[in-house]
Amino acid sequence: MSFQKLSYEVKDNIAHIGFGYNSESSMTVLDEDTLLELNEALEEVKKGEGAGIKGLIFFSHIPRVFLAGADIKMIQKLNTEVEATSGAEKGQELYNKIDDLSIPTVACVDGFCLGGGLELALSCDHIIASDDSGTKFAVPEVKLGLLPGFGGTYRLPKKISLPGALDMILTGRMIDAKKAKKLGLVTEIFPKENLVKVASRYFKKGAGTKKRSSPMDALKENLEHMASENFLSRKLIFQKAREGVLKKTKGFYHAPLKILDVMEQGASKGRSSYLALEAQGFGELCVTEQSKNLIHIFFMHENSKKYDGAKGEGSVLKVKRGAVVGAGTMGGGIAWLFANNGQSPILKDLNNDALELGLKQSSANFSGALKRRKMSKAEYERKQLSISPQLGFDGFNSVDLVIEAVVEDMKIKKLVFGELENHVRDDCLLTSNTSSLSVTEMAKGLKKPERFAGLHFFNPVNRMPLVEIITHDKVAPETVEALYKWCVKVGKTPIVVGDGPGFLVNRILMPFLNEAAYLLEEGVHPEELDQACLNFGMPMGACRLMDEIGIDVLVKVGKIMEEGLGPRARACGISKAAFDSGLLGKKTSKGFYLYDAKGKPGDLNSEIEKFLPNMGSKNMDETSIQMRVFLPMINEAARILSDGIVSKASVVDLGLIFGTGFPPFRGGLLKYADSEGLDRITGALERFASEVNEDRYSPAPLLKNLVAEKKKFYDI
Ligand code: NAD
Repeated sequence: MSFQKLSYEVKDNIAHIGFGYNSESSMTVLDEDTLLELNEALEEVKKGEGAGIKGLIFFSHIPRVFLAGADIKMIQKLNTEVEATSGAEKGQELYNKIDDLSIPTVACVDGFCLGGGLELALSCDHIIASDDSGTKFAVPEVKLGLLPGFGGTYRLPKKISLPGALDMILTGRMIDAKKAKKLGLVTEIFPKENLVKVASRYFKKGAGTKKRSSPMDALKENLEHMASENFLSRKLIFQKAREGVLKKTKGFYHAPLKILDVMEQGASKGRSSYLALEAQGFGELCVTEQSKNLIHIFFMHENSKKYDGAKGEGSVLKVKRGAVVGAGTMGGGIAWLFANNGQSPILKDLNNDALELGLKQSSANFSGALKRRKMSKAEYERKQLSISPQLGFDGFNSVDLVIEAVVEDMKIKKLVFGELENHVRDDCLLTSNTSSLSVTEMAKGLKKPERFAGLHFFNPVNRMPLVEIITHDKVAPETVEALYKWCVKVGKTPIVVGDGPGFLVNRILMPFLNEAAYLLEEGVHPEELDQACLNFGMPMGACRLMDEIGIDVLVKVGKIMEEGLGPRARACGISKAAFDSGLLGKKTSKGFYLYDAKGKPGDLNSEIEKFLPNMGSKNMDETSIQMRVFLPMINEAARILSDGIVSKASVVDLGLIFGTGFPPFRGGLLKYADSEGLDRITGALERFASEVNEDRYSPAPLLKNLVAEKKKFYDI
């Protein structure tokens, strides 16, 4: 047989199977053709096993990627449980062939070894790893609502113990080669240049290189494995793991619970019965809407790494150095981002006290990484010292990108840009981190508006992945492309949005918070309201979120939304009443809830009764509460699409998931709307419009059109 996807060759009596052969891609995955060829190659090995062939090596032709796992598009095509179960069984049979070879087998791992790739390596006697920092191991299936179905849940606990395996499988966490060696996953670490060469030492006679040598040994091993683990301690481990999963996922995610079921039930079984359970579990998960939604998000996120917007004819600037104007909460965070990516930023403010605060902010982010041992002390110092705090414009002519993060005031921002234009190069990109002001208006004062755009980060910058790139009619496509590519380079998820009140994320979030305030006014209890949001899957309830954002900010943004969008965005009086009572939320330790000195939320604040006299007087079932707060978000998203703020439903979903933590298992706001049925949603909006408020609930024309045409948001 001639191999196209992998190389097969026998050298000095050792069979070598190389992945990523002939590939032009920088990744290699296990697609259908590769799996077929792998089967053929293993048949060849079996033919020569013990005779001409004395050992088997797996390696990759692609630098820094051993195998990135099974092809997710192949998984996506599995439509029935039977099909998916049988797909897993086929993979298991293939890997059992490796496991059952009587000759020693070694996986030489340089780079990513993920999912099905790690499961393959686990079927070998030894995994040896390169010392490259890019060598990483993980079984990330749980993140796609799946379980490792090619024998990973069976082999990993045997190799690294049950608690270690549960941690890796339930979190999908990536570990580096050093950690893998510590856990016993990797036998040895070598410089990557020698990896395949040194593997030959595992084939020397009597080197104790084979984990077992006959089928009888396999049976013995199974029996030993079943008996070795104390039943009671195992039960306790699973019980603790289950509690941990429920605490972390609040029971919303099926995959981790199914993984625990399979691993616990399988623990007392031999290989074939165990693997049957694993394949069945994979089959069940594979066809769930939740897994389909998580895979949808995975692809949305992957696609967002490539710029597919308008292209200009000019060159696209590659950002190497940046500057931040305004060293406050956001400025300090953005300076950290530049510094963390080796782009030695300038940080400018009006006085030294402000600069100190900004530096403290960035240093706090770095110390977090230091504490988690994600960074060495030397690296921490080098990066923190790479930020140049200053009051003047020295060095601004050497930067490629300036991000303005001064106070939210149009006049001040225009003054800042007016001055900036005199100190930067002609090709330097200028951006504003405004959260609510019109970038079209800001661009009006500029000599070169084509190199200016909004660049809206979310707070805190180190944790929130989303960045909105806000365009206006004078911006050059090269500017948008350069900003997009910079965001991706520094690890952010950018979306390109048009200018308008609240841009994308805040425009959709505001109706949610505003409706929550109206429900409070009607007498719904704040804790019931928050619980309903949590039970929908939101990371926090609406009242907690209002406290987190700050009631003063909400009042300000609410006004802007009302001015820009008209009566449907009329702000409920509750936030103004809270503001007037001095309850600004977490920042003043008092809002709807009370907060301790560290900002940890406690009980409900009894002072809110002052402006919520009928608190708790209205009984509303949870679904009604959820519909009242989530449907206006969908309605506003429909208007955003027809206003051309963004052109695709997937951008709305990406923005809401990465900017607000909208529950990923629902696939995004509009994916959720599509699956609930737009006719039902429109019907409920119409009912609320007649019962509650015409302006706030009147269905958007686009929504009505989609219903009339029997289409979904994702058909647009
Ligand atoms: P902040 O009040 O914490 O910091 C603003 C800083 O700008 C202060 O240090 C101030 O001294 C400085 N400053 C004012 N005028 C200046 C000038 N002419 N030159 C240099 N520095 C000047 O504000 P923040 O919360 O960091 O917000 C900054 C911007 O980011 C605003 O536009 C805001 O809307 C936006 N934003 C804020 C958040 C948030 O959650 N805080 C989130 C997203 C966007």
